[in-house]
Amino acid sequence: MNKFTYFLLLFFISVSSLTPLLSQNRIDREDPATILKIASEDGRKPEQVIQLSNQVLALLSKVDKPDLVAKAYQLLGKSNRDLNQFSTAIDFYKRSEQIFIQLKDSASLAGAMNNIGNCYQMISEYDRAIEYLQKALKISENLRIKKINASILNNLGIIYQQTKQYDQSLNYHNQALLLFNEIGDKKGYSSTQNNIGLAYSSIGKYQEALVWFNKAIIIKNEINDTLNLANTYESIGQVHEKIDNFSKAIEYYSEALRLHQLIKNNYGVVEDYISLASVNIKIKNYQKVYEYLSEIEKKAEHVENYIALKDSYKVLSDYNLAIGNPYQSRAMMLKYALMVERIFSKQVSDKLSELTAKHETEKKEYQNKFLQANLEIESVRFQRSKEVQFFFFIICIVFISLLIYTIFLLRKLRIKNYQVVQINKELNNLNVELEANTARKTKELTDALRKTEESDKLKSEFLANISHEVRTPMNGILGFAKVLENNELSAEDRRLYLDVINRQGRSLLQIINDIISLSKIEAGQMEIKNTACNINKKLDDLSLIFNNPTYLYKKDGVALKIVKTQSNEKSNIVIDPVRVEQILINLIDNAYKFTSEGEIELGYSFEKHNTIKFYVKDTGVGIPEDQLDKIFNRFYRHIQPNQPSHRGAGLGLSISKRLANILGGDLYVESIPNKGSLFYFVIPFTPAELIDNNTTSIPKKNTNYWPNKVVLVVEDDQISFQFIQAILKGSGLRLIHAKSGEDAVTICQSDEVIDLVLMDIQLPFMSGHEATKQIKSIRKNLTVIAQTANVLDEEKNLSLEAGCKYYIIKPIESDDLYSTISKCFEGD
Ligand code: ADP
Repeated sequence: MNKFTYFLLLFFISVSSLTPLLSQNRIDREDPATILKIASEDGRKPEQVIQLSNQVLALLSKVDKPDLVAKAYQLLGKSNRDLNQFSTAIDFYKRSEQIFIQLKDSASLAGAMNNIGNCYQMISEYDRAIEYLQKALKISENLRIKKINASILNNLGIIYQQTKQYDQSLNYHNQALLLFNEIGDKKGYSSTQNNIGLAYSSIGKYQEALVWFNKAIIIKNEINDTLNLANTYESIGQVHEKIDNFSKAIEYYSEALRLHQLIKNNYGVVEDYISLASVNIKIKNYQKVYEYLSEIEKKAEHVENYIALKDSYKVLSDYNLAIGNPYQSRAMMLKYALMVERIFSKQVSDKLSELTAKHETEKKEYQNKFLQANLEIESVRFQRSKEVQFFFFIICIVFISLLIYTIFLLRKLRIKNYQVVQINKELNNLNVELEANTARKTKELTDALRKTEESDKLKSEFLANISHEVRTPMNGILGFAKVLENNELSAEDRRLYLDVINRQGRSLLQIINDIISLSKIEAGQMEIKNTACNINKKLDDLSLIFNNPTYLYKKDGVALKIVKTQSNEKSNIVIDPVRVEQILINLIDNAYKFTSEGEIELGYSFEKHNTIKFYVKDTGVGIPEDQLDKIFNRFYRHIQPNQPSHRGAGLGLSISKRLANILGGDLYVESIPNKGSLFYFVIPFTPAELIDNNTTSIPKKNTNYWPNKVVLVVEDDQISFQFIQAILKGSGLRLIHAKSGEDAVTICQSDEVIDLVLMDIQLPFMSGHEATKQIKSIRKNLTVIAQTANVLDEEKNLSLEAGCKYYIIKPIESDDLYSTISKCFEGD
């Protein structure tokens, strides 16, 4: 560590150790209470006190400590009074007075008021002085603060003495003297002694006066009260002057002047000069008078001692008159008069200031009130404005709410409108659709009505026709049956008539078959049974039927031509041969019906996609174009003009077309009137192997094929039984006839051997179904064949359910019956 660093370290240590002391010192100097304490110390010069008090006031400007502020004002008042600046002193004392009133500090208030009274007395404003002192006295008496009480009484005594009310003055001074004595206040006591001396002096009791003055001098000297000592010397001088002891007077005046000058009390100095000037006039030492008067003029105004100034002018006037200078004397007299006037004016102006102050106070009060009122008005206005604002706020909220609600409503309305427009559009569309539908429906209904009417017409025509179609063959059958009763008929006639009956019966059966087919188709019960079939063979079979001389519509001038486009091997296909045959028979029947001469051609061709197209072509009457669609409607028959009526119920083409549709194909026609018609029948097929259609061996009639077999024929109708008997004659079968279901059951129960039952279903009492059930319950293995005129599938199913194994339809075809029986006995 070098020397410099060591020095720095020491410096910092010293500084850091000194810092707390310095800061402590600073804190003390900035503490108002401490400063006030320092300022209140005895022996402080007024100027110092003023400086310290102002420092305190500056420190307290931002702190709320009114008691300290009041003390500072008090000190300012006191120091200004010491400097004989009484008006300033009064101002500071009054400030402290206001604070003491606020603080309710009565003792301090009494002190302040005493000081104010004293100051007013010093500037000769006795009324105010008395006013303040009386108030102060009241307070101090109540508080029993003797020191203040004594001081006030002393001051009052001075005023009464100066206003020449000496008794009063002595009274107050004596009271003060007692109190000062009581509390041991030597300064106050000696001061009061002096004042008593003055009072005595004023009333011409000079010796008493000098006694009191001398007493005072002793104590004042004792306590070093220079000012009052000077004042007492002044008073003693005045006494000596009054008793014309001028040299003594000058001696005391001079001593007073010395002391006043010592303590720089200009007020006293001025008075001393006046006194000295006055007494020097009396001893005609004008040089001295002039000196003193010059000094007075310099200082009197400064100390506001206007009385002294006024007195000095009076002395100057006297002086000038004494030195033979009347003009100057007059001039001084004038100044004296002006000063008197000025003092008076000052009193007036003070009065005015008081009034002005009062007025100012009132004005301030009024202003305060006005301000208060304004504030209240403002507050009311503010309240009102707040209310107005609130009102507007509410109005705004209501308005905004209404606006939002209106917008919401408008929006809703717009949506509603939009919806209404949409609904209207939809309604319009619906309307258009409805109108279209209505138009369509109307058309449909009109068509339906027309069709219904047509249908009704057709039905009526059909009924009339069917009646005709049924009655005609029935007429033939019944008529010729009757004729056959005649035994005298030749065998030839008999055969001819039987042939008629047979043909008419077939015609009748054809009509019934047609009606049943239509019913089945319309009930959706037409079953399709596809089996292998040889088309060429089928055409050969049809050729046999139509070339048979017994064929119903056989005509000599019309030939049937069969056209086979495929070889027998290739013409094997899988179709429903029964329905195909039914359609083709229908078409060929019609061709024969409407062709009087020429040729009918039946043929087929294999088309694409495994379809077969049959055609039936004739050279007949043809069909007008406007009839081409209608001929496929059920019950529709058309008889062309100039054409003979033909047989038929108007069902053939309708059934054929529907069958073609059921088979997955179609039936249509091309025709030229008077030239002929060409019917096409197209259906799909499945290719199949060649099969022999003659596999089912039908026993030839009239051969003893089933010898020893017993068949129970259950038939309530005797003719039907006889018909069966006739068919089965020569079959070798032994027939047992049961006329009811009950009989059948009974026979089956007996020991008689029954091999087969041919059961009629529609029996009175016990039905064929019931009888079958009971028979099957007795003889489980006995075969039952149902025979019924009911061709519907429902009936067939019921029979099979009851236990029947086979089912044949009335009128019974002999081939049908033989083949069915043969199936029953197969394997036997
Ligand atoms: P129907 O033969 O019982 O009158 P269809 O349904 O078989 O009933 O025939 C309906 C109608 O079609 C006949 O009345 C006839 O006018 C007409 N028609 C049918 N086939 C032919 C044909 N090959 N030539 C001329 N007209 C025919």
